[in-house]
Amino acid sequence: MSLALPPTVTLNDRFARELAEMAIPWRAEEVSDPQLLVLNGPLATELGLDPAWLRSSEGLRLLVGNLVPNGATPVAQAYAGHQFGGFSPRLGDGRALLLGEVVGTDGHVRDLHLKGSGRTPFARGGDGLAAVGPMLREYVVSEAMHALGIPTTRSLAVVATGRWVRRETLLPGAVLARVASSHLRVGSFQYAQAIGDVELLGRLADHAISRHHAAAAEAEHPYLALFQAVVAAQASLVAQWMLVGFVHGVMNTDNMTISGETIDYGPCAFMDAFDPGTVYSSIDHGGRYAYGNQPVVAEWNLARLAEALLPLFHDDQEEAVALAVESLGAFRRRYAAAWSAGMRAKLGLPDGADEALTAPLVNELLTLLQENHVDYTGFFRALGAAARGDAEPARGLFLDLAAFDAWAQRWRALNPDADAMYRVNPVYIPRNHLVEEALAAATNGDLDPLERLLDAVVSPYDERLGLERYAAAAPEDFGASYRTFCGT
Ligand code: AMP
Ligand code: MG
Repeated sequence: MSLALPPTVTLNDRFARELAEMAIPWRAEEVSDPQLLVLNGPLATELGLDPAWLRSSEGLRLLVGNLVPNGATPVAQAYAGHQFGGFSPRLGDGRALLLGEVVGTDGHVRDLHLKGSGRTPFARGGDGLAAVGPMLREYVVSEAMHALGIPTTRSLAVVATGRWVRRETLLPGAVLARVASSHLRVGSFQYAQAIGDVELLGRLADHAISRHHAAAAEAEHPYLALFQAVVAAQASLVAQWMLVGFVHGVMNTDNMTISGETIDYGPCAFMDAFDPGTVYSSIDHGGRYAYGNQPVVAEWNLARLAEALLPLFHDDQEEAVALAVESLGAFRRRYAAAWSAGMRAKLGLPDGADEALTAPLVNELLTLLQENHVDYTGFFRALGAAARGDAEPARGLFLDLAAFDAWAQRWRALNPDADAMYRVNPVYIPRNHLVEEALAAATNGDLDPLERLLDAVVSPYDERLGLERYAAAAPEDFGASYRTFCGT
């Protein structure tokens, strides 16, 4: 049976053309027997791609990079980056490709990008490949984040390649097709800075303004306005991570976007019991990227962005630094405001609630959660019932009942709105034990657990009968020793 050719898939090559110094034209490795593991039908439709066609053999060839539409120029993107604090002037897409930009049915331009598509000139010692498990992890967690309303890259599909990938063991290989409003990173600017090309830096900044922060073009100082817009977007993003208990795990500057979307789901995980020191990544020995450090790390990364942009801020270095410092100062204010507003919402308190009353209430709650090893997500969901008068589900999570009762009495006195709480406190997140279960099954060829988990997490606020185990905390024997791996 032969299927019709694609209903014209148009991939633009704007990045490849405008920023050729940062784009190496490249092709994905041939995949002889691609097998679709998961396809995001609604996202495909948003992009103007027919899901039925994407499932066809031609569609699968597009999803692994072997079918390149006319006019497209797949490229490996160059970027630099601070990894765990150490600077590498040349990282780049070692196992990824930007296929091109797609204009969705909503008119928005988005990158279509592959991960695990073979070695590129940036591969260094890497094999250019990715395993099924880590690519499905990115798919599940990024789609869960999107459903939670948190800016993120999206996942269009994961296709098994039929190849074996050597990690600690031999694992089945896969390619993830990912969609992002762009793949510009802090590290992209660091790359232009590192090669000392100020003209390129300016062109990159113009490109970023036009794709993400158009209002900056109208500002008196467009490049400073760009920086301020990124500071604002990241302050808001990291506040949202913190509110939902997300630990990115590898917040290197090459993994921080200019758009303000979450990117590069490697050793990421959702925190179970509340503890600011939570670290899941097997390579994060010092806890640099612990849950509680994320705001400070984001600010540090933004300081690196400012450094890269200095030549665009002012010809005089001292003046440039002063402008950068002043603009970066907004991060803490914006982060604190976004986080506090989010916490009030989680507690069902109105946005205008008296900060002098709510701030100590929130701080005491966090101390209680930590001391009592309370499941973070489960607690806030259970607290909705407490707002309706049934405190038992929340109360039962604490060892120190008297301390919880005293706290709850003060909180109830502020008249929390239960309905509002159910709208912001998810019941289903991709819990670590469920993600592991789903990935292990998928690696062995059983996609059912993955599909059930996806079904739960893409409607995170909508509690459904039969999904109880997706709302439950991790089993006792799971938590403390849980580690995630980068999959590289
Ligand atoms: P990540 O930690 O996934 O953000 O990747 C950091 C850097 O390592 C990027 O330059 C990646 O392209 C590169 N990289 C990661 N895994 C591989 C691999 N298996 N083969 C080649 N390059 C890789
Ligand atoms: Mg990365």
